[in-house]
Amino acid sequence: MAVDVAGLFAEREGDRYALHTRYLNEQMVRVLRTVGFDRQYQRGSGQYLYDAEGEQYLDLLSGWGVFALGRNHPAIREALKGVLDDVGHLRKTLKQSAYRLDVTAAECRKCGFVFSTEKLSKPSKCPQCRSTWLEEPVVQIIET
Ligand SMILES: [Zn+2]
Repeated sequence: MAVDVAGLFAEREGDRYALHTRYLNEQMVRVLRTVGFDRQYQRGSGQYLYDAEGEQYLDLLSGWGVFALGRNHPAIREALKGVLDDVGHLRKTLKQSAYRLDVTAAECRKCGFVFSTEKLSKPSKCPQCRSTWLEEPVVQIIET
């Protein structure tokens, strides 16, 4: 069953710090509140986080998410695959930001068949000549 991570985040946004306190790390929430970093972060780019007002914060705690989510969790993997399989949703989400999705389609190196850009995962076999010698799709999120 696919997990709608974006939907869960949106639905529980107001409970973010209460849930973090209850299930993860109460002390972390105290620290964030003390230093004024208990914001509604909307996105991240490189080492920076951005809140709902577009204010930029240097994220010195990168990597803490892995302690909460674990490594290679099957539900997280499925959610990420869902994002990669739904290019339309990703494009729509990015339209509301300062970024756009740029996709170079996968291509068969043997016969030149060009795959759809609607799926971002690497195809396994060319539907035209059955070759597995394929150029992978290139996906970039570009700041506009
Ligand atoms: Zn081919």
